[in-house]
Amino acid sequence: MLNFRNTNIFFAVLVLAILTWGFFHHVSFYIHILILFLYSLALFCGSYFIQAGFYFKSVCALPTDKKQVAFSFDDGPSQNYTVEILDLLKAHDIKAAFFCIGNRIPNNEPILKRIHEDGHIIGNHSYSHHFWFDLFSSKKMLSDMVQMDETVEKTIGVRPRFFRPPYGVTNPNLRKAIIEGKYISVGWNIRSMDTMIKDPNRLFEKIKKAVKPGAIILFHDTSKATVWVLPELIRWIRKNGYEIVGLDNICDAVPYK
Ligand SMILES: [Zn+2]
Repeated sequence: MLNFRNTNIFFAVLVLAILTWGFFHHVSFYIHILILFLYSLALFCGSYFIQAGFYFKSVCALPTDKKQVAFSFDDGPSQNYTVEILDLLKAHDIKAAFFCIGNRIPNNEPILKRIHEDGHIIGNHSYSHHFWFDLFSSKKMLSDMVQMDETVEKTIGVRPRFFRPPYGVTNPNLRKAIIEGKYISVGWNIRSMDTMIKDPNRLFEKIKKAVKPGAIILFHDTSKATVWVLPELIRWIRKNGYEIVGLDNICDAVPYK
């Protein structure tokens, strides 16, 4: 399996083999550069693609072959679109998961409460969602994540167990923080790109093509395009025999600690 440990073993053996070969033959300097480049590329791809499970496993699909999909919304609570999305979900009787940012909760407590009261799952998406979060030490990451838990607990009395890495980036420090904090990492297998694609028709076409059994779709409740696309998308998904389910059943654990 291609993961961090196996990649390190592979490159260690490769470097050893080249060093041994170098005792007897000339090895071009460019070979070393090439190996360094390939190693860096492997680490980068492992960090960037959460579905690869390179540093640690994340739940990126529903455990089913049935025509079921789940909706997840990142980066709220937002004054702009979270409430509109909650109204839409309620009107269509859909339960979803909201991976919230802790520092967006102050002044938005009523929105967080409503997410909870409407029966959706609230997950931890870090407190700061800092641009350099991925470069934090594991200790600093964990304290950021715990600060988010405490902010949620203060508002609705529960501490999230599901954690979604900011930007979807994973690395060894985050692995340590997740294990120490006893979180369950939750990714996705369809990225809607709703923060980039502003045209609802294009967005609809993109998601429509990707829908598959067991899909966890990543949206943002900070995106206007999401509000526009959801009604048509929900209709299309259901018309094609899919059920839209919550994330509750992705593992044995309940979503709160
Ligand atoms: Zn985010």
